[in-house]
Amino acid sequence: MIAAAPDFELAYGIADPSGLDKHALIFQFIGQKLLIGPDAALPHQPTPPELGNPLWAFRFGVLAGRNCVMRVWPAGLAIPSGLSAGDYRTLWGQWPPGYLAAFARAKQLAAWVLHNRFCGACGKAMEAARAETACECPACGYKAYPRISPVSIGIIIKDDEILLARSPHFVPGMYSALAGFVEAGESAEACLHREIREEAGIEIRNIRYFDSQSWPYPHSLMLGFIADYHSGDLVAQEGEIEDLGWFRFDALPVLPHAGSLARRMIESVCKTLAEKTRRL
Ligand SMILES: [Zn+2]
Repeated sequence: MIAAAPDFELAYGIADPSGLDKHALIFQFIGQKLLIGPDAALPHQPTPPELGNPLWAFRFGVLAGRNCVMRVWPAGLAIPSGLSAGDYRTLWGQWPPGYLAAFARAKQLAAWVLHNRFCGACGKAMEAARAETACECPACGYKAYPRISPVSIGIIIKDDEILLARSPHFVPGMYSALAGFVEAGESAEACLHREIREEAGIEIRNIRYFDSQSWPYPHSLMLGFIADYHSGDLVAQEGEIEDLGWFRFDALPVLPHAGSLARRMIESVCKTLAEKTRRL
């Protein structure tokens, strides 16, 4: 089941940092914190004068026909009065999917430009490339592109049950799918085999792709898979996994928020398992 694409298209350009486009949506960041108004909406122009000129200003997308422009100031500046820092996770359910997609891209780009102010090869100040989403060194030509970190996440099925686990940092009672970052030189499928082996102590088989989701913590691309249990007994990895277990499709614990890839995978698999049980 592939989620419908939200009404947001990627774009890039260093044009119009001055706010000449009165219809543009302006995403303003202090470090990686997005400034929002008291109603959780993007504040209207103009930029609070006490912030001064941004370090970076560029166009990063189009949302329902409106240009999306971002301005980034260095972390550590005080948030102007009347505004607060909007968190991506808490805006789920408050913002429509297109706005969330724009925020996910902008948040990752804010981190990227702040981490590439100076060239990693020669140390000179970097500039925004004109034709592509890149920070470019005017001295040596080195280019830094936004980093994307793939994560394999998997729902494992055993008869009419699925494997769910909880990390120590989850909210109380919540369980989710196991996941881990793809290592250099590793395929997404090999990563899933390794992560499930390391975190749960079992072997899996018959991996099939489900869907993917950009996740701006800090620049992940979640690659969702469903797989079948093959062998072994569950052993939770110490320090990483607080608890894990097999959960029947109709007796699930607290799940991640609606709209997350993990939640969509869990609901899809459990719906299939329920239908299968009804047919028996
Ligand atoms: Zn350089």
